[in-house]
Amino acid sequence: MRVRSNGPCVLCVVMLMMAAPAAWAAPAEQGDSDVPLAAKSFALSQVRLLDGPFRDAMRRDADYLLSLDPDRLLHSFRLNAGLPSQAEPLGGWEKPDWPVRGFSLGQYLSACSFMHSATGDGRFKQRVDTLIDGLAQCQEALPDRGYQAGYLSAFPESFIDMFERNESIWAPWYVLNKILAGLIDAHQHCANPLALEVAVRMADWMTARMDRLPADARVRAIESMQPGTGQIAAVGESLVDLAAITGNDEYVRCAKLFIRHSLFDPLAEGKDCLDGRFGNTSRDGRHGNETVLETNSLARLYEVTGKSYFRNAAETYWRLVARQRAYVIGGYTDFERFFPVTDFAKHLSRRTCETCNTYNMLRLTQRLFAWSPGAEWMDWYERALYNHILAAQDPIKGMFVYYMSMKPGDFKSYSTPLDSFWCCVGTGMEVHARHGEAIYAHDADSLYLNLFIPSELTWRERGIKVRQETRFPDADTVRLTFQCPGAATFTLQVRHPSWAEGMTIAINGNPVDAGKTGSYAHLHRLWHDGDRVDLRLPMRLRTEPLPGHPDMVAFLYGPIVLAGELGSQGIRDEHLYLQDFRTHDKGPLAVPPVLVCDDPSELVRHFEPAKKPLCFRSQGIGKPEDVSLVPFFRLHRQYQAVYWHVLSSAAWKPQELAVEIE
Ligand SMILES: [Zn+2]
Repeated sequence: MRVRSNGPCVLCVVMLMMAAPAAWAAPAEQGDSDVPLAAKSFALSQVRLLDGPFRDAMRRDADYLLSLDPDRLLHSFRLNAGLPSQAEPLGGWEKPDWPVRGFSLGQYLSACSFMHSATGDGRFKQRVDTLIDGLAQCQEALPDRGYQAGYLSAFPESFIDMFERNESIWAPWYVLNKILAGLIDAHQHCANPLALEVAVRMADWMTARMDRLPADARVRAIESMQPGTGQIAAVGESLVDLAAITGNDEYVRCAKLFIRHSLFDPLAEGKDCLDGRFGNTSRDGRHGNETVLETNSLARLYEVTGKSYFRNAAETYWRLVARQRAYVIGGYTDFERFFPVTDFAKHLSRRTCETCNTYNMLRLTQRLFAWSPGAEWMDWYERALYNHILAAQDPIKGMFVYYMSMKPGDFKSYSTPLDSFWCCVGTGMEVHARHGEAIYAHDADSLYLNLFIPSELTWRERGIKVRQETRFPDADTVRLTFQCPGAATFTLQVRHPSWAEGMTIAINGNPVDAGKTGSYAHLHRLWHDGDRVDLRLPMRLRTEPLPGHPDMVAFLYGPIVLAGELGSQGIRDEHLYLQDFRTHDKGPLAVPPVLVCDDPSELVRHFEPAKKPLCFRSQGIGKPEDVSLVPFFRLHRQYQAVYWHVLSSAAWKPQELAVEIE
């Protein structure tokens, strides 16, 4: 099979890898970049999580990954390639006749690759190697079925014909991107040389396929996508990653062919166009996950081209979402679409906050931090990580939430292990393998402490180990201990979160300047073996309104969103674990109490701490009864309320009489 490449040929790359496996085995820290990054994250293999909620989440995810059978994931690929498969087909979106079949294998490859780096557990590499062998066999066999060389998918190539003819077809390029990304991750994290060969052949097919499409047909196909059906430009991110690995700039050129200018030209000029060109009714805005995936592509294009168009568009998108369009948990969209920022009250539905969006926003946030380190990015990252991502994993079975409902009185529903395979299952598999990624970052002279998560960092380049011990957020203290036998001079940059007024820092017991909230404290010194840094992060209860609606409020304690525990009567297993996520809409709902308070600025004074950490109970203002608040990330199998109606006593009076009559 001919491999076209302007960079080093694949065989040379493979030979280099065999000659120097240690060098090639080290995963890229944050993707290679032509633009100098101001800070880089550490490779996942350099950070080990210690006991805490994120390690628990990672373990549950690891158990789920190991429970899946590679032959079942490969089944539809083999059928499509005319190869025998006796495996039992998977269900949900992986059914053999489902239009997006095959994407889960790509995300499973990524998740196992991350998990291998994050844990060093060889079982994940074995899974990856088995799948890569299977995919390579399929790619080799597909031309015998009439497909073009390099094509690799579990569905026929005619799906791409349909896309190019502007016919209705659900997201074939989205699926191909997941497969290509999985191959690249397998190469980066598991040093699988065949993965790179398969990826290069696939990317060459992509490039040839896009090049043969006349420009007007290409623009028409890309621009006329109905929201939610496309998600095609996402492939640009993987193509740029592959260009960085192989040196083949053709993939960068191809990535640019996917750009939707109707979306990104306004964003690059700082304009908000997310309500969409289809009008301003509730379901007509731009698609959340589609746009954030495309934005990640543009962010990656900035890193290899340095063009301000890409950076401006990415930063505008981030600010619009994080500052104006997100709910308190960091999630955004209703029925997967953006809506006018004045209309939040109409959008407390059962289908808010698709979890994929937030995973992809976390990835975008890491990039923006790398370009220009600042607490703004990581304050938001922390909020979304605890209150959406961690909250979206079932603590019993490790399954995943699709829509994180902001409807007061709703509850969380989860996937099933083998019969759901929604998009949010794919991203869920990945995200819990990556918790080690954003805790720390570095440049030549600085070590950034971004997140307060128990962990151990090995900064190999400087011969330093850092151990972070904390029970945060259940406790407000963090201790870092340095192991640096030769002593080392660098600046420890400690995030001083915007919520942590009065934060203190001590080095070996001696207080030092902790800087301002919403910035980084700069601790420059010669660090010695055994040096200790102790942080205290005061948290307090506060409210935050639904954007534009001061009479609907959410509660936070530090960065942690608190939600009301409203009981579980009537919630059964059939409501909790779903094959079709849409059936959640038919599940029961509770009626949440309201909060009656004549001075909303005094609301938090009417709450007392409960016995458990991070828990509070209202004192006489909950009507018809008082309410208990607990961390939203720990609230499962119960009716919940993140947002509460706040009424004056005059407004409550008629309702109180109505309740008494009932
Ligand atoms: Zn999703």
